[in-house]
Amino acid sequence: MSADLRPGLAGIPPESLAAWFAERGHASFRARQLNDALWAGGATAAASIGTLPAVLRSEIDAAFSLDTVADTELRLADDGRTEKALHRLADGALIESVVMHYPARRTADGQQRERNTVCISSQAGCAVGCPFCATGELGFSRDLSTAEIVDQVRSAARRLARRGRRLTNVVFMGMGEPLLNLDRVLEAISALADPDRYGLGARHITVSTSGVVPGIRRLTALGPQFTLAVSLHAARDPLRDVLVPLNRRWPVAEVVGAARDHARVTGRRVSYEVTLIDGVNDTDADADALANLLRGDLCHVNLIPMNPVAHTPWTASPIERIERIAARLRRAGIAVTIRRNRGQEVGAACGQLAAERAGEPAAPAVARRRELLVVRSAAALRGERMTEPAEAGLVAALAQDEDRPPVAPLAAAPATTAG
Ligand code: SAH
Ligand code: SF4
Repeated sequence: MSADLRPGLAGIPPESLAAWFAERGHASFRARQLNDALWAGGATAAASIGTLPAVLRSEIDAAFSLDTVADTELRLADDGRTEKALHRLADGALIESVVMHYPARRTADGQQRERNTVCISSQAGCAVGCPFCATGELGFSRDLSTAEIVDQVRSAARRLARRGRRLTNVVFMGMGEPLLNLDRVLEAISALADPDRYGLGARHITVSTSGVVPGIRRLTALGPQFTLAVSLHAARDPLRDVLVPLNRRWPVAEVVGAARDHARVTGRRVSYEVTLIDGVNDTDADADALANLLRGDLCHVNLIPMNPVAHTPWTASPIERIERIAARLRRAGIAVTIRRNRGQEVGAACGQLAAERAGEPAAPAVARRRELLVVRSAAALRGERMTEPAEAGLVAALAQDEDRPPVAPLAAAPATTAG
């Protein structure tokens, strides 16, 4: 079967859709009917839109895809509170999304309502290559289109609705680096936040980045209402170079500087994600470096035990160590949450199903990868910075973004001593 080349309807801006109807001589109320069927009605096929005449339905069907993630396989976890979806896109690319259900509970300041969060992907694969992340190991395939991003949300909302639940939050914490596909991500957020389209308030949306500084600065200039999350994982450059390879291009002080400006300009608290790996980034010295870095900032830190992924030599930090880090951060006046039970909270599971499908790499390659990570993290813990250039995929991904200043050779990152 040849690939479906029709653009996804959910990614077409309203004015373009209106023009499409006008060009074909259809009354403008027809565009509104289609819009309502797509967004309020959750339509996935033109044929099912009974309010439109049959001829128009086939015209729409020939021109647009109403569901770019139609080929979806589901898996339940956590007693049914977590539902992972593997979506096969029109060209065969595989991406994942995860729906997480949080029952309503009583809190000190009154009743907290139930939350249903979908964690969505912005790219097929990811060029950044964080070694503890299943998506990072897959490498980069391509950017998602606006509709492919939005349709993950529509798919999740339909599945929730069948169980009498309503989608309340969207987090860009699935596969890919949202700030390296920022135009499409911003279009998707516009569609999700638009009261005439999906109608989810921007305040219920979180975008997570591994630290693409020009992207953060671009968001700051836009003054968004959604939450920015920054995947920090280490406060010291030598270690962050290993855990988040993008750090060799934008070191931690620049990332936090941009996030700090973002909080100051937008008045919105930045979230920092710290995935904790046993014996790697969970010492008192790490906690104190983090506290010194963030002290006094308008921010919130989420501590997450690493979700075990294949092909790393690492495991999650024990909970007592995580609590110790939390206590040290709190002593410095920093708000902290421990994401104790659900590694999936941050989309940690994302990439794992796609990785399974990609097949098991050869055993010697896996052994080499594990060995390299042991050597690199040990060197980082001694305070040595990496001198190797980043993988070709990352350099290419950075070069492709025209808003970015020219990519400096990563090998030329200034040498620093342990922070
Ligand atoms: N690329 C973006 C968003 C997607 S990753 C980013 O990195 O922020 C979303 C979050 O999942 C990030 O904080 C990432 O570090 C975290 N993550 C990835 N693999 C994980 C794992 N095995 N265990 C815990 N968190 C993980
Ligand atoms: Fe990419 Fe985020 Fe995974 Fe790093 S953690 S490889 S940036 S998806």
